[in-house]
Amino acid sequence: MRKGYFGDFGGCFVPESLVPPLQELEAAMAKFLPDPQFQAELSDLLCNYAGRETPLTFCPTLSKRLGLNLYLKREDLLHTGAHKVNNTLGQALLAKRMGKTSLLAETGAGMHGVATAAAAARLGLTCRIFMGADDVIRQAANVRRMKLLGTEVIAVESGTRTLKDAINAALREWVVTQKTTHYCFGTAAGPHPFPLLVRDFQCVIGRETRQQMLDRTGRLPDAVVACVGGGSNAIGMFHPFVDDPSVRIIGVEAGGTGEPGCYHSAALGRGTPGVLHGEYTMLLQDRNGQIEPSHSVSAGLDYPGVGPEHAMLQATKRAEYHPVIDRQALAAFQALCHEEGIIPALESSHALAWVLDNPGQFAKGANVVVNLSGRGDKDMDIIRKELGI
Ligand SMILES: *Cc1c(COP(=O)(O)O)cnc(C)c1O
Repeated sequence: MRKGYFGDFGGCFVPESLVPPLQELEAAMAKFLPDPQFQAELSDLLCNYAGRETPLTFCPTLSKRLGLNLYLKREDLLHTGAHKVNNTLGQALLAKRMGKTSLLAETGAGMHGVATAAAAARLGLTCRIFMGADDVIRQAANVRRMKLLGTEVIAVESGTRTLKDAINAALREWVVTQKTTHYCFGTAAGPHPFPLLVRDFQCVIGRETRQQMLDRTGRLPDAVVACVGGGSNAIGMFHPFVDDPSVRIIGVEAGGTGEPGCYHSAALGRGTPGVLHGEYTMLLQDRNGQIEPSHSVSAGLDYPGVGPEHAMLQATKRAEYHPVIDRQALAAFQALCHEEGIIPALESSHALAWVLDNPGQFAKGANVVVNLSGRGDKDMDIIRKELGI
């Protein structure tokens, strides 16, 4: 396999000025990630600061209704409310080892921004977060959380004033601050080596799930299911099962409103190959290669591209990817609230929705694990608008 590639996808399509910091990062990964002291320090942070290991929760009511055994991997219980902190603690610790004094990051819904701000505060790094100007308004509560954690939030006024433009602005900023600053990228996408780095830190999800299922049921799960935005929580769950052919791997993309012509954040379902944010991958783009604005009720899935490893897993048919529309995700959200007493993030509700709406896809009594990537507290304003609750 070519370095930095997953099959045909991935690579490192960046301006010359970003080659040195990416090479520096690659060298630091080779030096520090295998270091037992680095791993021990990270493991201590994950356990005693972030709250690992996360539980694997059996859902008795929904299981009965579906005729299968439904388990949830509870990343929603982590500090700052989602799986993002697995990655930001890892990258912040690596940045310290590299002698950097600052973190720089992009954020869409604000969850990666909050997780980065917390990791920076904990490890004594300064922090600047780039966020689309529209998102700054829409996600005001997360902006306040970042500020409370001592982070500077910069509103990006260019383009669609959302995540795509925040990433462009952050990459530009990195060109001038690379000496002192690590770019803490938020998902398993972007230029090499970020897809590998983020996967490395998120694989703790799948490794724990594997052991928990073996302890509880004596065998591997029949299927693992996760939502796909950029693809970090999904690849963290999937990667440790890729070499187990008995485990079905299912990614769920945001299908938007479901109206004809609006099928919107499903880069794998209806995208075409192209280059965005330094990688060659599947993208939502028009015939001229212009990126189409994505739309979903869940801001965290609103990314027009996808990590290169998912593009490969789809091309090789090792994993399958399906769209779920807003209405299905909202119904799954309500079902989990009412029937299991858990308020999930709208992103995670997409993964759950595909299982709830397709029980016939599984054998009777199959053991199915859904990655509950985050909690729903951040979505209360949207829920009020959509469901009137
Ligand atoms: C950010 C986020 C996602 C989407 O990001 P991935 O990189 O695809 O995991 C999914 N769920 C939650 C709760 C998030 O905060």
